[in-house]
Amino acid sequence: MSTAVSTLQALLRIPTVSTRNPDDWDHAAFEAFHAALREHFPLLHAHLELTRIGDYGLLFRWPGESAERPVVLMAHIDVVPVEGGEWTHPPFGAVVEGGVIWGRGTLDDKSSLVAICLAVEDLLAGGFRPAQDVWLSFGCNEEVAGDAAPLAVAHLRDRGVEPWFVLDEGGAVAYDAFPGVTEPIAVIGVTEKGITSLELRVEGRGGHASTPAKLGPTARLARAITRLDRSAMRASIPQATVELFRRAAPLAKQPMRSALMTAARFRPLLTRLLLAAGPESAAMVRSTFAVTTLTGSPSLNVVAASATAGVNIRIMIGDTVESVVAHVRKVIADDQVRIRILDAGEPSPASPIDDAFDLLEATTAKHFPEAVTAPYVMMAATDARHFTAICRRVYRFTPFAMTKKQREAIHSYDEHLRVDAFLKGVDWYRSLLESLPFPGGGAGASPRA
Ligand SMILES: [Zn+2]
Repeated sequence: MSTAVSTLQALLRIPTVSTRNPDDWDHAAFEAFHAALREHFPLLHAHLELTRIGDYGLLFRWPGESAERPVVLMAHIDVVPVEGGEWTHPPFGAVVEGGVIWGRGTLDDKSSLVAICLAVEDLLAGGFRPAQDVWLSFGCNEEVAGDAAPLAVAHLRDRGVEPWFVLDEGGAVAYDAFPGVTEPIAVIGVTEKGITSLELRVEGRGGHASTPAKLGPTARLARAITRLDRSAMRASIPQATVELFRRAAPLAKQPMRSALMTAARFRPLLTRLLLAAGPESAAMVRSTFAVTTLTGSPSLNVVAASATAGVNIRIMIGDTVESVVAHVRKVIADDQVRIRILDAGEPSPASPIDDAFDLLEATTAKHFPEAVTAPYVMMAATDARHFTAICRRVYRFTPFAMTKKQREAIHSYDEHLRVDAFLKGVDWYRSLLESLPFPGGGAGASPRA
């Protein structure tokens, strides 16, 4: 087996599970992961400058020919815990069978981290120096929305680093992305929805359950929740989604092709189609509200003196925290329901489709000639959103071919990646690093020695 694969196996076997509670943190696993990186990537550690970020985050700087227009490649060290589901192979076993590697982190997102490091190590062995500074930012608590990425951004800002572009996990070379399309679509996330959480609270007198008053805290809260559930926010289709349909349409068979092409030309039609196609596609065109937590009376014979509901909101680009809170207030239409913002996260600004996107597209065309590259709006959150504070071009893409079944295994069970897909990903990162254009418009990076 190639060293690339055995390296990936070694790193997958270290259970770097991040947790919200710092007391549960497996420090030894993260220390072991750092040690394994040092062992497997000696050139990378010898040539790149390393800054430790927060507890276990790593930020490497690979000095380039020029310090202008630096590039940041991201991935995260941590993985989600293993909960439920029958794994075909042990989740931290990194078993390779039939050309497939199985385990937690194969898709999200250690394979990407290892592929980046393998590409860098290989280029260093050939005496390569990138055209501009390349930073590698590896967070340690992405899965628990931790501080490593914001701290890395703060560090870069302090050093005056203004990246040309940032590349993090997100999209993939996705098979089964559209009904009726057999070719893969390399989807690059150009924006992501914002995550905001609210608490709805109603206070009242409480008292004995034998003498209840009308419209007590629980009933009032229930009314507010049903009002919110009935009143969706207005739908609006982002430009990235229109562009995704425009680029994907020619791949579809008739009559789907005509339908997609027509839809891409008429936004209202596309919006209606997506709203009608179910909750998953409806989430592509508007902000969504999910009532998740509920509390009321702790005992069966006591009327609640206060009742609360937690609302998790995913904000579509075009809306803001302010506008969604205003919507909630308006549709609930009840002063006695107090609204408190627990977490406020705005949607990420849309990254432009210009030179950096074109470079990602060209690199993808080279390694995946069968794929069409297209932008899209990510529904899930990534560490990349923090980098929008210092960079206009933030892209979310992992250069691995993935089927729908594989994508469903992310954060679930039986996460796996094809070995050839992994090796192709390593080549993709190497090509990307080799083809970074020289800042100022030179003919390209220095050739490999
Ligand atoms: Zn991830």
